[in-house]
Amino acid sequence: MVVRQYCAYGCKQLTAGSTFLPGHDQKLRTAIENAAGGILKLKDLVEANYGPIVPERGKKVCPECGHVFQGNGWDGIDAHWRAKHEDVMPYEQAWPLLKEGHYPKTD
Ligand SMILES: [Zn+2]
Ligand SMILES: [Zn+2]
Repeated sequence: MVVRQYCAYGCKQLTAGSTFLPGHDQKLRTAIENAAGGILKLKDLVEANYGPIVPERGKKVCPECGHVFQGNGWDGIDAHWRAKHEDVMPYEQAWPLLKEGHYPKTD
């Protein structure tokens, strides 16, 4: 059974079971960008809270959450994965895939 829910955009309309009505995730993205004063201001805001979001050349990025590893290669992936994504896939299973670049992207 499909559970109808309110669109996460905040338009107070029911969806057929998805998080957003069609196109409303895009509307939300635009609204957030506008509220921040543009895409670059938004980037600054996000980076102030979460650290760099655009990887430098050669930096590794977590395929699950987009976290950029600032150290050498995958330094820190062990602790990061166990803390955040152990429920998606156990680290022992994910690591060989990550290392080889075979981890399935989830977007
Ligand atoms: Zn909506
Ligand atoms: Zn992650």
